[in-house]
Amino acid sequence: MTASAMMTSSFVDNHGFSSMVCMQGQGVVKGYAIGRAAIMSAAALEVAHYRIADEDVETECARLERAIVRAGQDLQTLIDTLPPDAPREVEPLLNVHRLLLEDPLLSEQACDFIRARHYNAEWALTTQGQMLAEQFASMEDEYLRERSADIRQVIERVLRVLSGTTSLLTNAETVDASDDPLIVVARDISPADMMRLKGARFAAFLTDLGGPTSHTAIVARSLNVPAVVGLGHVRMLVRDGDMLVADGFSGIVLVNPSQQVLAEYRQRQAAYLREREELACLRDAPAVTLDGIEVKLEANIELPEEAEMALAAGAQGIGLFRSEFLFMGRAGLPSEEEQYRAYAFVVKTMAGRPVTIRTLDIGSDKTLDGEVTVATNPALGLRAIRYCLAKPEMFSTQLRALLRAAVHGHVRILVPMISHMHEVRAVHQAIAAACRELTARGVPYSRNFSVGAMVEIPAMAIAIEPFADALDFLSIGTNDLIQYTLAIDRGDAEVSALYDPMHPAVLRLIAHIINAGERVGKPVAVCGEMAGDARVTRMLLGLGLKEFSMHPQQLPDVKKEILHAHSNALRMKVATALNRAARIDLEELSA
Ligand code: PEP
Ligand code: MG
Repeated sequence: MTASAMMTSSFVDNHGFSSMVCMQGQGVVKGYAIGRAAIMSAAALEVAHYRIADEDVETECARLERAIVRAGQDLQTLIDTLPPDAPREVEPLLNVHRLLLEDPLLSEQACDFIRARHYNAEWALTTQGQMLAEQFASMEDEYLRERSADIRQVIERVLRVLSGTTSLLTNAETVDASDDPLIVVARDISPADMMRLKGARFAAFLTDLGGPTSHTAIVARSLNVPAVVGLGHVRMLVRDGDMLVADGFSGIVLVNPSQQVLAEYRQRQAAYLREREELACLRDAPAVTLDGIEVKLEANIELPEEAEMALAAGAQGIGLFRSEFLFMGRAGLPSEEEQYRAYAFVVKTMAGRPVTIRTLDIGSDKTLDGEVTVATNPALGLRAIRYCLAKPEMFSTQLRALLRAAVHGHVRILVPMISHMHEVRAVHQAIAAACRELTARGVPYSRNFSVGAMVEIPAMAIAIEPFADALDFLSIGTNDLIQYTLAIDRGDAEVSALYDPMHPAVLRLIAHIINAGERVGKPVAVCGEMAGDARVTRMLLGLGLKEFSMHPQQLPDVKKEILHAHSNALRMKVATALNRAARIDLEELSA
């Protein structure tokens, strides 16, 4: 996303009249930062473009070639001297840049511009870079599209060598003189620059370009420094030393806010830091009720990198990895290799903890790009497992990637929207066929996996017994279970007041599933929004739930509730109410 919504508003503050600019980007690393702007140089925007004389052509080509070699050597040195605490994504990213610099096409075609058009080296290189970046940007494959950012960053490196610039910041002295924390403001930040900035006291990163999967986002996430990307023109609008507030939650950036606004954000920052400290204290404490019932707390993630956030929050595993986010917002489907890399990354990050990866849950509210649905009611149409079974090759590709990822740890394959037993059999057959295919190809995979299903269709919940027998585990998708039980479209604001997680019918279904799991000794989790809502934690404990999976940020609040709850007393209170199909009084459960 490059377009940014921008508003300006004015305030009278303690120091008189001040004007505040408010920009909207994408918050990719959560947290608040308040500090002074440190603008990063952008050689591509600053170098001079001029024509050279005939007799200087060969010298100019040689100057360009030397600069490209030098930029490559600098990168190699950086790779060789990476500190042990460097985020592990950095080295492969730096290697991509080094390979781009070694490609003879880069210097050959830029030298063609010097010879044919008499451009100076900087101009020739920028022109060549723009052409390459545009070619990559128009490619269908998302991976190749992202390479256009690499081209821009590599060109920037060479331009810096050509201009002899060593400082990354436009005004290092102002920055050195400031006592406030500093916020880097850049057009884009390459992984190599991130490594140079890493040691300094930067409180946040703001960039014009980039999205949630850009290098800035990935590295900032590993460094745990708040970041907002895709701001459009932040580098042009902000001056060195401007006071900034960066909100990594909402993606809002305030430039020169009033004293009142600053005070408000300082409070939010302090509250957030306090919450983080509390979280740190609770992180490694087991979630055990007062009467000694152990509860498993896992995390829901949508992007592979979020596994780190899950670990930092103390999650005991991944209870739901919504794999559809690898498939959305792109042209074409991800290959087996790309999927394998994403799943293996999560499994390795979780270091032996179980990782539950849901097979593609597409349709209804989530659609693939370019796919036009003709279903009269997509929520009841060809979605999730129905869609996968209708596209056996696509399903098999995902299953093979999952089986290969199981080499690195325990993978739990979670199948969404099951309503019939024949679907369970079809899934088992598809998995067996994927194993045979990998064996035939001689590709390593592991049988260290289990197969479970989301319980989110009332029919399955009511007739749960054969499913509990045939599957290794169950995970209740309350978001859809509520939608289908109450006939309330979960995305329709007009009926949202009727979307009632506490409806006795919903709670009876949840209790019925948990009891069936207990009877046959199969684990049952809840991974819908209810699991992360601390207001209903006691009620879920009262239903007998022992596995919760939620957004990592919700984990500490839920854990606090569990630590203060008495499970057996809750089970009795909840059972009494359910027998009468009466509404459960949440306040009474907290007493
Ligand atoms: C659910 O339905 O509860 C669930 C977790 O899946 P999703 O929200 O992705 O449909
Ligand atoms: Mg669902």
